Amino acid sequence: MFALMQSTRTQSLHLFTDPPTGLKAVVVIHSEQLGPALGGCRYLPYADDESAIADAIHLAQGMSYKAALAGLALGGGKAVIVRNAHVENRAALFEAFGRFVDSLQGRFITAVDSGTSTLDMDCIAQSTQHVTSTTASGDPSPHAAMGVFAGIRATAMARLGSDNLEGLRVAVQGLGNVGYALAEQLHAAGAELLVSDLDQGKVRVAVEQLNAKPFAHEALASTPCDIFAPCGVGPVLNGQSVMQLRCAAVAGSANYQLTHLQVADQLERRGILYAPDYVINAGGLIYVALTHRGTDHGTITAHLAGIASRLTEVFAHAQAEKRSPARVAQTLAERLLYG
Ligand code: NAD
Repeated sequence: MFALMQSTRTQSLHLFTDPPTGLKAVVVIHSEQLGPALGGCRYLPYADDESAIADAIHLAQGMSYKAALAGLALGGGKAVIVRNAHVENRAALFEAFGRFVDSLQGRFITAVDSGTSTLDMDCIAQSTQHVTSTTASGDPSPHAAMGVFAGIRATAMARLGSDNLEGLRVAVQGLGNVGYALAEQLHAAGAELLVSDLDQGKVRVAVEQLNAKPFAHEALASTPCDIFAPCGVGPVLNGQSVMQLRCAAVAGSANYQLTHLQVADQLERRGILYAPDYVINAGGLIYVALTHRGTDHGTITAHLAGIASRLTEVFAHAQAEKRSPARVAQTLAERLLYG
């Protein structure tokens, strides 16, 4: 684990257990260079504890890059709570987690992420003030989706020469809080939707409400489409899966989409334009960070509009330098973080 911390330049790793509630949690603070580390709290099952910790480390690094490029005075962090098949008292579990967040004395601020809700954040808020996206401050997912939608238009413009999504085939992998909200916007813009989710109930709703075409989750990525939008969890793009893609661009909400940066080079060689995850999905972070600071909605909306222009700038650099947008975004973020 130390090797992974060193290679990702991770600052600290905090492990917490609370036997009465069954809580097993990890908080990773990747960087406090630009401010306190803000990062969502995942509540998902993992194959083993090491995978949960490694996931949190990769995700926290992405949060540092995301905050830096979004121009927020924040560092990057992430929390993962390992989900067991049976939980006696969910509220007590999140309250216990809140006590641990509080023990970090504001160095880490948490928020909603995959598997958690604003109600869980309310439970955390019983024990600490270092939490956002409570029911009072609101769910960031619609804002994340709004940013990804704008980013998909910017991606279509850069790769296909038009940001008109009418008739474009967009494959949305994962119809959760962000994926479904994104699918709704794509449908409203006239895009043809191809969808998958591990939960067939969510797929049925998209078929009925958005006229989406359903696919088995393992088949979607290799289906011909214009834009592949990963909106699930986990690094779905690896050396093998990338060779099966049959799209012009990849642009989706999921955090930590690539197993390695070399995968971005493979995409580049295949002529598939990649919208770096931490650039395109910054809408949720922007929303939680600015609401936590008490910023008004007009300013938040203006800040969200910056996502598409930042992405366009990254694409322009990438084209000029003949490098993957993922490498360009990493260089820009690391310059802001490390000088
Ligand atoms: P969610 O838990 O609400 O939804 C995720 C959905 O993806 C679930 O329905 C799950 O069944 C499905 N899924 C997971 N793996 C899949 C796969 N391989 N194929 C098909 N479906 C799959 O999570 P969310 O809040 O919608 O977040 C989705 C992604 O976007 C996550 O990676 C998250 O970190 C990222 N993200 C979320 C926000 C936010 O504000 N919620 C902001 C930025 C980024």
